[in-house]
Amino acid sequence: MIRAYKFLLRPTLRQQHALCEMLRDHCSLYNAALQERRDAYRHVSKTHIRYGDQSVQLKEIRAFDPERQGRWSFSSQQATLRRLDKAFAAFFRRVRTGRKPGYPRFKGVGHFDTVMFPKDGDGCRWDSTPHNRQTRVRMQGIGHIRVHQHRSVQGRVKTISIKRESARWYVVLACDAVPADPLPATGRQMGIDMGITHFLTTSEGVHVENPEYGKKTAAALAAAQRTLVTFPRRSKGRSKAHRAAARKVAMLHAKARRQRLDFAHKAANFVIRDADVIAHERLNITSMTRAPKAKPDLGNAGAFLPNGAAAKAGLNRSILDAGWGIFLNILANKAESAGRRVIQVDARNTSRTCPDPTCGHVTADNRDGEAFACVKCGLIEHADRVGAININHRAGLALCAVAVQPPKQEADDFSHGRSHPDNHSMAKHG
Ligand SMILES: [Zn+2]
Repeated sequence: MIRAYKFLLRPTLRQQHALCEMLRDHCSLYNAALQERRDAYRHVSKTHIRYGDQSVQLKEIRAFDPERQGRWSFSSQQATLRRLDKAFAAFFRRVRTGRKPGYPRFKGVGHFDTVMFPKDGDGCRWDSTPHNRQTRVRMQGIGHIRVHQHRSVQGRVKTISIKRESARWYVVLACDAVPADPLPATGRQMGIDMGITHFLTTSEGVHVENPEYGKKTAAALAAAQRTLVTFPRRSKGRSKAHRAAARKVAMLHAKARRQRLDFAHKAANFVIRDADVIAHERLNITSMTRAPKAKPDLGNAGAFLPNGAAAKAGLNRSILDAGWGIFLNILANKAESAGRRVIQVDARNTSRTCPDPTCGHVTADNRDGEAFACVKCGLIEHADRVGAININHRAGLALCAVAVQPPKQEADDFSHGRSHPDNHSMAKHG
């Protein structure tokens, strides 16, 4: 099993300065490599430069600029070039599939925040035998940096990344061969319905509320962004105020992110504790949060009918704020480690269908806000719980369907979900 751990770094002032220089120099390497590719494509009859072509130049670049480029790890520089290669691969993929391509961009030095070391011990070493009970990470060109290691690391460290998030520095370890940590079997299956009023509701009727602190941070963020607007970057004598306001906005974004992660971890722990099989709806957050289409008024040229945009703007906010995507990602990883099974189902009509198996009547009339009352059989229940029960039912059907399929098919589906790099669980931090 693969897992990522994220720990806060405690660099000294001198080390912070060196870390900034490391990001700066990797950023300029990235931008120079991008420039070379652009020039080659534009001027030399549409030639494509590849990763291999740029990687062989590294030795020369390092010799030419020993103060800046020669100082850092060869491997992390290769990783930076590979990152550019990935950006180009994604660009060409978008062109092929006919989506809006978006050519890879130059990165501003303030926006280049990660340096990756592809192998532990090569340019960066995770110190697994702590000195004076203090874990450290040793980096080429910087030295030993103290790590706030709030949990133990399982498995074998494969790659190490150093990350800047507003004013904080983190180390992210990607480990493989992490042993599973199974929870005792409960013999139960549970459906969860994700909503706006409640973050989620289980098929047993338990609600998990949306976090209140998220709203507080959102309000503070809105205030900070207003301040930022009142101090434009280029106004005379105000750039200091602009920088301070920008720092505050970045800090609040980071805070909101930490709170969302923390909440998602707690909610996921709650869910996996009580059931062996957990079913949830398949979310498509991008389409759910897209702005509704304008509705022209046919009887009145140039005028528009209400399209629910205002209501949806509030809904969009809540959806994004609730961070379901983050939650489901964490849930999938925790479930894998705990030996639980997570099933995604199509949630169409789950909140309009009567959950009584002998009835199953489907109509929008069954719903009245939060209340569900079946117009056919008279069953009354909380609407979110009805959704959760129906999701659970559908997962039951999905389980049967999987069982009759050839076993290899199922194994493929699951290994895909597991090996996806975005599916690494993020260790809680802060
Ligand atoms: Zn009914």
